[in-house]
Parts: sequence; C-alpha cells; structure tokens
Amino acid sequence: MPRTVVIGEFAHETNTFSKIPTTVELFRARQCLAGDELLSGLKDTNTEIAGFMDRAAVHGWRLVPTVSTTASPGGRVTRQAVRELGGMIVDGVRANADCDGVLLALHGAMVTEGSEDGESELLAQIREIVGPKTPIAVTLDLHANVTDRMTGLANILVSYRTYPHIDMRDRGADAADLLERAMAGEIRPRTVAARRPLLQGCNHGRTHDGPMIPLLEEARRFEHEPGVLAVSINAGFWHADIFEAGPTVTVTGDGDDPHYRQIAEILMDKVWERRDDNTLEFLTPEKAVSLAAESSGGTGPVVIADFADNPGGGGYGDATNLLRAMLEGGLENAAFGGIWDPEAAQVMTRAGEGAEITLDLGGRTEPAMGGGPVTLTGTVVKTTDGTFRYRGPMHGGVESCLGPSAVIRSGGVDVAVVSHNMQWLDLEMFFSNGIDPREKSVVAVKSMQHFRAAFGPIARQVLVADCGALCTPSGEGIEFNKVRRPVYPLNSLESCLKFIGDG
Ligand SMILES: [Zn+2]
Repeated sequence: MPRTVVIGEFAHETNTFSKIPTTVELFRARQCLAGDELLSGLKDTNTEIAGFMDRAAVHGWRLVPTVSTTASPGGRVTRQAVRELGGMIVDGVRANADCDGVLLALHGAMVTEGSEDGESELLAQIREIVGPKTPIAVTLDLHANVTDRMTGLANILVSYRTYPHIDMRDRGADAADLLERAMAGEIRPRTVAARRPLLQGCNHGRTHDGPMIPLLEEARRFEHEPGVLAVSINAGFWHADIFEAGPTVTVTGDGDDPHYRQIAEILMDKVWERRDDNTLEFLTPEKAVSLAAESSGGTGPVVIADFADNPGGGGYGDATNLLRAMLEGGLENAAFGGIWDPEAAQVMTRAGEGAEITLDLGGRTEPAMGGGPVTLTGTVVKTTDGTFRYRGPMHGGVESCLGPSAVIRSGGVDVAVVSHNMQWLDLEMFFSNGIDPREKSVVAVKSMQHFRAAFGPIARQVLVADCGALCTPSGEGIEFNKVRRPVYPLNSLESCLKFIGDG
C-alpha cells in the first residue's frame, strides 16, 4: 500500500506594523492553487511543493493536494482568510485523517487577526485530527519567527538556507525525505529551538556575505552527528510585534537526546555573539542617485535597491522618495520597478500607449514614511495585464501577475506602475512591462535583498537606499509593545546580558 501524505502551503510573512490587512483576495491575487491545480501548476518549479512532488514520486506516495496559497507580506491575515484558506488544508487532513503523514510549506512568521502564531493555530488543528503519532513535517522560510508551540506541534522543521531564497525545492525535498523515514518507523523526529533576548541578528539572514556563511557551514557539520536530522538558522522577522519574534536555531533530531538542544544553544551563542554584524551600507536616496549618476566602467546597470519600501517585507510599494530623487537627479536611461498604484495604473491604461499625461503617482498609503505623491508628466509607453512567469533563481517557473500595469516615461526614467504590490526580484517583471533592464544605465527595484539573485549578475554595481518607508532599517516610526523584554537592540546590551546571566 502506498503511503498517503496530505500536502499544502499557507504562507505569509506578516508585518504587524502594516495598516493593510491580508485578505482572501490578496492571497488569491498572488497565488492560490487548489487540488490537482496545485500539482500541475507547481510541478518542476523552484518551490517547496515541487520538492514534495519530486520525492513523493521516488517514495511512491499517494499525495492528497489541498491548497498552495501565498500573499505578499503585509498586515495581519484576516479571520476569513484563515477560515477559508487554512480551512482547505484542515479539511483535506480531516477527509484523510488516517493518512500516514502531513507535509506543509509554511512561512513561520504568520500573524493573524486572532493569533500571534498563525502556523501553530493551523498545526494544532491538524495535530488534533491526526493524533500524536502521525508525523508532521514543515518547511519554513529563513525569516521564520519560530515559537515553542510550533516545535511542539511539528515533528520536523526544515528552513531555507539561502537569502535571496533560492533553495525552496531542495528544502521541500529534505523535509519529504525525513517524513518518509519517520513514516517508515526508522526515526522518531522531534524539534527543539534556541533563542536569546534578540530581535535582529544573523545579518538579517543574508547569505551573500557575512556571519550566515560560517553559521550555516557549522549547521551542516552538526547534521553529520548521529541522530541529528536537520539544523536550521532562522534570522527571524523583526517587523512583527509579537512575543517570540527574533532569530532562532532549530534542531530536528531522532528521539529526545539532550545533545540536540546543546547543538541549538552552541549555534545560538554564535548568533548572539555576532548580533551587530551588518554588511550593508544604507544610503539616502539622493546619495544613491548621485553615486549612480557618477558610476562609470563595467557593463550593465547600476541597481539601486529601494530597501525600506520592500513589498517583500510588508512595505506598501508606493513610497516615492527614491523615485523623486531619480527624477530630480536628472538620470538618463533609467527604470523604476515599480510603484504600486492601481488608480494611476488605471488612468494610464485608459489614456493608452503614446498618450501624454500628467498624474499624481504613489505616496498614498503612508506619505509620512517614504514620501507622498509625485506629480509626473510623461508619455505612456506600455500597458499590460501584468502576467509574467518567474524565470530567475527565485520562484523559477511559477506563473504570477502584477495586475493591470503601465509604464510612464518621464524625463529619463521609465516608471512601471502596477496594481498588485509585489517585490521586484525577477527580470521578467521588467520584460513583461516592455523594459530591458540589461540595457538601462540605472535600475531601481522595490526589494531589500532578493533582487540580488536575478539582478546581481547583470548589475555593474549594487547600491542600497533607505527612503524611510515602513521597512526602514532605522526602525524610525514604529513602536513595539508585545515583544518579550528585555530584547536587543530595543533594550540595552547590559540589561540583556544581565537577563541571560552573562553580565
Ligand atoms: Zn524570507
């Protein structure tokens, strides 16, 4: 008899400081594939689900596909979204309550209107249905805020090891292989987590340089020890005012050997020691633009990251300070991808390609953070329905949609205006808007770090700008009330050291 495994994905990184709740509609607009569509839509893509499918074929499982749904990071996930979308997974498990295992792709930083720990609410319902003996395996984003409740409910936790995230399919396969061994009775996996009074760390998880490289290497070495099944370094997601926000190390081991906790604590000590390591230099928008204008030599564009307004961290995607600096800086042959402004996109689409128009763009959601509307005069050079397929190292193969979109050329800057707020991390997002970023002198992207995977190889130089929007690294304009205290860097190092008995 083939083993029956229920699979699903309900993934969200919740920025609790965002004023835009994450609704069913936002999940459906980004990705919501149910039943067999989940299998056909994600086969051979760089996703956890594809990794599950790869290994299911090898192990001969009967897969029960429930739903695979994600939304761009944003405010709390609504009760209705939890009921409807989480409910599809719970219903699938209930209809297969005697399944051999459950395999889920979650993010690990979901906050809902009803709970600080959305993943655990889902896992608790599933655990109640399948009972204590059926193994549950979960993949997590490297920015998971792992809670003790989560490790108590899932047997196996496997997090990404790359940021930009490019190893989703591989980690999905790892979790599936561990689940197979658990279902075969070969291992009895349990997971433990270690943390410190730490809200930010691990260089925010960046793996192109900095402390994550040796930390991950050491995690791999520990995985060679007897009984150690998976060791994950989670940078956490600090734009979440919840009790257990921050970095963790998780160790999934066979049985209850206290050595697994020791490993987690050894690695967490190293995370703690390197808490201040930060490999990025943040520029003002004006400085970034002047450096880009002066840049010479090499091939390809100067790529400027609009770090603080990253839709992939919950940014509203309509902050204008960087765009304004680019327009006022007189840049030539530049492109901006992209401003989230459905109203403006509609106006431009109605005007049509070739039309000369003047309009107010962006800055609508939180003008005090990142800049208010910019008045632009220019030519509409492209209108599109916004559909594209990711071709880059991240999400490669997945179909997606920016919503009705249009490009306005104002001065020397082509500005893409979109209806779905999404992080700009794939060249196809420009190509589908009629812009070839490789031919531009300067390209700005609403992204913190993920753009490096696709844009790094074409970039002459990468600059990182802080425009003061919701995800500003300065933390200015946001206030924490629920995170545990003391916690570094919100509280002094002395008080945190005293708390852990090291001061
Ligand atoms: Zn992440």
